[in-house]
Amino acid sequence: MPPFPASRFRQPLITWFRRHGRDLPWRRTRDPYAILVSEFMLQQTQVATVVPYYEHWLARFPDFASLARADESAVLHAWQGLGYYARARNLHAAAQSVAKNVGGVLPNDLAKIAALPGIGRYTAGAVATFAFDQAVPIVEANIARVLARLTNWEKPIDTAAGRDHLWSTASVLLPKKNGRLHNSALMELGALICLPRRPLCAQCPVQKFCAAVEPAALPRKRAKPRQVLLHESHAFALRRERILLEQSHARWRGMWILPRLAAVPPRSPLLQLDFPFTHHRITLSVFAATRSFLPNEKQRWFPIAQLAELPVPSPHRRALEELLPRQNLCSTFART
Ligand code: SF4
Repeated sequence: MPPFPASRFRQPLITWFRRHGRDLPWRRTRDPYAILVSEFMLQQTQVATVVPYYEHWLARFPDFASLARADESAVLHAWQGLGYYARARNLHAAAQSVAKNVGGVLPNDLAKIAALPGIGRYTAGAVATFAFDQAVPIVEANIARVLARLTNWEKPIDTAAGRDHLWSTASVLLPKKNGRLHNSALMELGALICLPRRPLCAQCPVQKFCAAVEPAALPRKRAKPRQVLLHESHAFALRRERILLEQSHARWRGMWILPRLAAVPPRSPLLQLDFPFTHHRITLSVFAATRSFLPNEKQRWFPIAQLAELPVPSPHRRALEELLPRQNLCSTFART
């Protein structure tokens, strides 16, 4: 429990937020669909990256019905570059469920929001509070950091006990009314003042309530699994201004990637690049296809000019952007 009265804590926080809170596009709307889109996009992704995607997405899929009707390829294409594509698939599935089961309108009911596919406790609470102003607690990375420091919680936060502590502290601090304002302010405090490495305690509106002894050392987490190094080989096959691509059924399900090679060819790659994926570090090597290279049934030839319309994950897009100009072929991946 917080070592201070919640009622005295809230006022300076709200006053600070009214003065310093950012004008973010999803804070200007009460549309549950738009807020759900922003919450999916903001998972694991910085605000500055999300803003153009959010605006582009709402122009392309303005409501649950339009997203529900879209095919998966169009959804993945609009998400292209944001990564963690399971979020796009889950958002698509949630829209289809809203369109089919609740008449295309998200209900003002936490349990019903939480029952949608791919929506966890945080996202359900965020939509309930930001769209419907419900007084429900929410805990995401920024709020978790603030709460762990305010209460000087020195044990890991990513355990059952740590999560219980954060959610119950968030509940105690929550006012009965104005949930949206309170939760927005707490989250913003984490984003702008209670920063991960160097918290700006001298500027903090709730410093006098804070019990943190060594704030920069909090929150603690369990030790991460060791990073696993992987090498993957792919082919670069061109034929009369067409390129061979393969539809992924694994890591980037539904997206188009350079054809995988079962073995590393005995020659130098045209290109190598590294990228992270969960707890892996992957080295992608791209080899020129030889004349004997035989496409299989999962692979298709695409005109280079059509690449901009295909969902292609970032590492493969980077490889194509590097390799096509070397053949005097231009790939324009400008988002359509
Ligand atoms: S005083 Fe410092 S550590 Fe405590 S909540 Fe404010 S910024 Fe975070």
